[in-house]
Order: sequence, then structure tokens, then C-alpha cells
Amino acid sequence: MLTINEHYLKLQASYLFSDIAKRVAAFQAANPEQEVIKLGIGDVTNPLPPACVEAFHKGVDEMATAASFRGYGPEQGYDFLRETIAKNDFQDRGADIAADEVFVSDGAKCDTGNIQELFSTEAKIAIPDPVYPVYLDTNVMAGRTGAFKDGRFEGIVYLDSTKENNFVPDLPKEQVDLIYLCFPNNPTGSTATKEQLKVWVDYARDNKALILFDAAYEAFIRDEELPHSIYEIEGAREVAIEFRSFSKSAGFTGTRCAYTVVPKECMAYDAAGNKQAIHPLWNRRHCTKFNGVSYPVQRAAEAVYSEAGKAQCTALIDGYLSNAKIIGKAMSELGYEYVGGDNSPYVWIDGGQDSWGFFDLLLNKAGVVCTPGAGFGTCGEGYIRISAFNSEANVIKAMERLKEAMKK
Ligand SMILES: *Cc1c(COP(=O)(O)O)cnc(C)c1O
Repeated sequence: MLTINEHYLKLQASYLFSDIAKRVAAFQAANPEQEVIKLGIGDVTNPLPPACVEAFHKGVDEMATAASFRGYGPEQGYDFLRETIAKNDFQDRGADIAADEVFVSDGAKCDTGNIQELFSTEAKIAIPDPVYPVYLDTNVMAGRTGAFKDGRFEGIVYLDSTKENNFVPDLPKEQVDLIYLCFPNNPTGSTATKEQLKVWVDYARDNKALILFDAAYEAFIRDEELPHSIYEIEGAREVAIEFRSFSKSAGFTGTRCAYTVVPKECMAYDAAGNKQAIHPLWNRRHCTKFNGVSYPVQRAAEAVYSEAGKAQCTALIDGYLSNAKIIGKAMSELGYEYVGGDNSPYVWIDGGQDSWGFFDLLLNKAGVVCTPGAGFGTCGEGYIRISAFNSEANVIKAMERLKEAMKK
């Protein structure tokens, strides 16, 4: 008799996005004339930057002739991309990262989900609340939690992100080994200063812990004072792995390319207490379970760093940031408090009522779809996330409808 991994049965069936779809469908059926504007999903809407498209085409053409055809590439990514990433994203910002510490992959979702398998099932895990659900669910699947009770899994140390701490969690009271952080944050849009990250780096160093830093929204940072990488913090090379993605920065959600940085100094410990470097373990995992990102996609990703590509990506993100401003301004005018939207595509709004109630209000009164904050964790209750990923025209239309429908 085949038995299953029982830990999968602990997973909360995620009703969030199917619940949203059901409510939207019901609204649409009752109001067939009303056009619904979706500001709920975390997916980009603009096409790939022209520089990437050009490089992508060129890469495909190279695959079409015997002389330039390429089969399996290096699992870790081609040197041309790893070197470009190390230089542009790290060395040019004063962060000491080498090309062979960069592992190119097909997504930050996979990497943030897979990284936990390098560590003991006994490891004590700290996860922000609210946050991107992948960190929690993959640890549940791996058996690092107990049962789901009152909205939370036993055995996880939740790092509350609330109005009181300005959505940047405080250090945990109990000792933890593996710490997930995400800045700029999904869903709150909050950012962390160098001083705030330093506190976490120091904690990790003092406790032989490791930080898993998800910087998927790094490209949205416009505030000159904010760090783009955790490696801008002194000492982070020894205690932090960083995840990046071309999904939100260059519109690669459907193209698939991301990377993970594992500095050679990062250590975990074996049962005897001896140091074990993480870099060779991740390299081993990557080579055994992954066979590389396609060559044309890596060429398209390389083009993100060309002069034209940089300008086009900046313009792309500026467009989303401008949408976020429009959303924030409209919510302020309606008398709601919010955070995010400055260095992030997400605006996190205190609805003054339960998340789903506020969701229904926006849908039923204005035909606007958002995401209820409670879907990201118990601390998200009372909030909604509005995403700037849509056309400016749709965002303006959505905010005008809200202002019209919800005047207090
Ligand atoms: C969108 C997103 C990612 C990117 O995932 P990909 O698999 O690279 O598309 C990673 N982390 C967070 C928090 C995200 O919102």
C-alpha cells in the first residue's frame, strides 16, 4: 500500500484566489454591463522590453543553425549571464558577489520553495506574517510544522508585520535558525533600511542562523537610501542567501528567469557541530534536479542589463510606480490609511473592517477587484492589497469609480 506524505494533508486548501474568482463571477453574472477592473493579481501586464525581445529572437535564431546550436547548458547558468548579474546587480553597488555565487534558475518561486530542503527538518523557521505564501507552504510540505490551528501552523515562529512596527518585523523572542525576509514586501509594499537589515544580519551571525532574503521587487526601489541587496549590509555574506527574479523587474513572469545568490561563506552545521558550506550543497541540488534555463531566455535576461534594456525596464517600472501613486492618492482622499506604493507595486490599505468585507465593497460598489489581506496571513486581516500591475487608463478608471462610489 502506497502511503502519501501526510504533511501535504496539513496544508490549508488555498481558497483565496478561487474564492476571489467565484465572487467576481457572481458579480459579473448579476451585473453583465459592468466592466470589472482587476487590481488583484501579482502579475505584470506590460509586454517584454524591446531589448529583451530582440535578444530573445537572436537566441532562437542561433538555435536554428548547426554552427551556433546549443544543447544542455551549464545547470548554474551561462557565464555571460552570471557575470553580467554579478557586476551590475552587486559589484556596481559595492556588494562583493562573484559570478560563481550566482545560480540562474527558472523562478524565485521554485528557489525560495526548494532551498529549505538543504536544512534539517528540525530547523526552527521564522516567517513573516503577512507574506508570500510559498515560504510557509513549502516548510509545511517538508514536515517542519505541526497542525494548522487558529489560522497558524504549530512549530513556526511568525514574525508579525503590523502598523505598530511599520510592517518591518522585530526579532523573534525565541531562537530561530532559518529566517525568511522579503523587502520590498509582498503584500505590504514595506521596505527595510540598512539599519533594520543590519539588526537581522547581526542576529543571524550571533545565532548561527541563516537569512533567506527575497528581493523580487528590488527594481521598484527608488529611495536612494534603501539597500537593494542584503549584501550591502556588512557581514551578510556569511549569513544570507538572496533571491532575485526578472519576473517583476523586466516582465518575465511568462518567460521564466530568476537567480539565487549563495555566497561561499554561508554556513550551516552538521550533527557534530562542524561547519558545512551551503554553496556546494545548493550547487549539488541544482545540478541534480535542474537542467538550466533555456539559452534564448538567458540571452533575453542578459539584455535587461544592456543600456537600452536598463532604460526600458526603468520606464516599465516607473509606469507601475506611477499607477501605485494614483492608487495611494485615491485611497487617501477616501480617508483610508495605507502603506507601500513608493518603492513597490503594492498598496496595502487598512480597510477599517474585515478583509473580505472590504473586498466585497470594492467589487460590488465599483467593480474593482483587489486581494483580501487575510489571504497572506492572520496579520493581514483588516487589510486589502491593491496592485499597480495594470494599464494607467484602467487604474485611473478604477480609482475614479471608487471615489464616486465610496465617498464617505
Ligand atoms: C512574484 C514573486 C516572486 C517571483 O517569482 P518567479 O517565480 O521568479 O516568477 C518571488 N517572490 C515574491 C515575493 C514574489 O511576489
